[in-house]
Amino acid sequence: MNPAQKPLDEFGLIDWIRKRAPSRAQTIRGIGDDCAQLRPSGDADLLVTTDMLMDGRHFLLESAGPEAVGYKALGVNLSDIAAMAGIPIAAVTSVALPRDRAVSIAQGLHEGMAALADRFGVDLVGGDTNAWDGPLVISVTLLGETTSRGPVLRSGARPGDVIFVTGPLGGSLAGRHLRPEPRIAEALALHQAVPLHALIDISDGLSADLGHILEESSGLGAILDSESIPIHQDAFLQAQSDGRSPLEHALHDGEDFELCFTVAPEDAARLLAPPLPSLSLHRIGLVTAESRMQLRSPDGRLTTFEPQGFNHLRQP
Ligand code: ADP
Ligand code: MG
Repeated sequence: MNPAQKPLDEFGLIDWIRKRAPSRAQTIRGIGDDCAQLRPSGDADLLVTTDMLMDGRHFLLESAGPEAVGYKALGVNLSDIAAMAGIPIAAVTSVALPRDRAVSIAQGLHEGMAALADRFGVDLVGGDTNAWDGPLVISVTLLGETTSRGPVLRSGARPGDVIFVTGPLGGSLAGRHLRPEPRIAEALALHQAVPLHALIDISDGLSADLGHILEESSGLGAILDSESIPIHQDAFLQAQSDGRSPLEHALHDGEDFELCFTVAPEDAARLLAPPLPSLSLHRIGLVTAESRMQLRSPDGRLTTFEPQGFNHLRQP
C-alpha cells in the first residue's frame, strides 16, 4: 500500500465496494442508502435464498484465500436459484471479518463475488460489514425472479418419472467445492424445453438431495442404475486414499452443485434425442411408488441404500 494512503475504515471500504458494483436495470438504488431498491420485471414472483459460510466449516481461509470464499459464497446461492429454474437479480452480503486483516479480506471476497456476479447479471446491492476477533463468516442473500413458467419445486416427482443429473458427481472436497459452476443457464434451458416435475441442486449429496425430492413428492422412492451414475474423476482420487468406492463418493458426497431433476418418460426421450446443445445430461434411474431408494447393479440385483448427506445438526 502507498504509505501516504490512509488505511481504509468501514466507510472507506464500503465506498471501495460501491465504486466497483455496477447496477443493472432492476436496481433502482444499490449500495449507499439504508436499503437497496429493486424492481422485479413484469409479474414475476421474487425468489429469496440465503447461505452462510464459516471458516473452518465450509472453507479454510488460510489455504483457499478470500477470492475463492467470495466466489463460493455467491456460487452456492446461485445454485439455489438454478434449483428453482429462476433468474438471479441481486445479492446482499453480510460479513464478520477477522479484525487483523479485515480490509484486505473484504476486498478479496468482493473480487471473488464480482466476477461471478457479472457473469450471471447479478447486482451486488448491499450488505453489512463487521469485524471481530473470531474467524471469517460470510452470509449472502440472493434475490431472483421466476420465469413466466413459474418455479420448479422439489415436490412434483411422480412414479415412473426418469431421474437425471447434469454432471459427474463425487470427490468435490478435493477442491472443486470452492468453484461451484451454477447451473442457471442449464436449468432455464431445461425448463423451457420440457415440463420439469421436480428439481434440486446437489449440495448435500445425490442420495440426500434426491431423497429430499422423493420425500417432498409424497414419500416416493427410486431405483438408480449403478452403471449410469456419472462419477467425477475426483471421486476416483478420493477413493484411493479413503477406501470408500468411487460410486459411494458419487452417491453420498456433497457440494457437487449439479442439478438433479425428474421428468415424464416421454419428456426424457425428448431431452435425449437430440440432446440440448451444451447440456450434459445423465439419465440415472426411475422414480418408484415404493418409498425406498435402491441401487440396481449390472446383473439386475437390487440393493436398498439410505441417504447419507451432510447434516449440520446430526449428533455424533
Ligand atoms: P446501516 O447502518 O443503515 O445498516 P451501513 O452503514 O451498514 O448502513 O451500510 C451502508 C451501505 O453500505 C448500505 O447500502 C449497505 O447495504 C452497504 N454495505 C455495507 N456493507 C457492505 C458490504 N460488505 N457489501 C456491500 N454493501 C455493503
Ligand atoms: Mg440505516
